[in-house]
Amino acid sequence: MKVSVKVGDTVLVNSGKDSGKKGKVLAVKKNKDSVRLIVEGVNIITKAKKARTAQDKSEIIKTEGTIDVSNVNVICSKCDKAIRVKHTVVDGKKVRVCPKCGAVLDVKFSKDAKVKKAAKAETAEAKETKKAEKTAKTEKSKVTKSVKSEEKATKVAVAKKPQTGRSAQRGV
Ligand SMILES: [Zn+2]
Repeated sequence: MKVSVKVGDTVLVNSGKDSGKKGKVLAVKKNKDSVRLIVEGVNIITKAKKARTAQDKSEIIKTEGTIDVSNVNVICSKCDKAIRVKHTVVDGKKVRVCPKCGAVLDVKFSKDAKVKKAAKAETAEAKETKKAEKTAKTEKSKVTKSVKSEEKATKVAVAKKPQTGRSAQRGV
């Protein structure tokens, strides 16, 4: 079943006791053969809540009851009109589009894509900087290696010196 209403949408109720009310969709409940919504401030029902533990209070709660999806129209976030959502495919993704102004209603999807792209770019930059650091390190290590080899050479030279050095050490 195609659902044209999603959590976070603003909808206009077009039938029932709350006809004409606007509200934000808090939940979409999909059943076998119906889709019901919980809309902020719409179809307020009173529930009697029984205390189940000693700390609980028995109370009457006013809360939103469900309404059928067919009783609402989505309100376009761009042109602010009650619309019949059109389903189309953009960049291989199924999206909901406003037939009146053409705005894509699935803002989350496009935002996420942007965020992901930005994140990817950042990681690429980080990689590049890491590479640069690595090359710098290797250069450094090369330098240190050459220095070490020089040191070794001098050491060898010292070792090759006649035994006078050793005897001198013994003397001390
Ligand atoms: Zn629109």
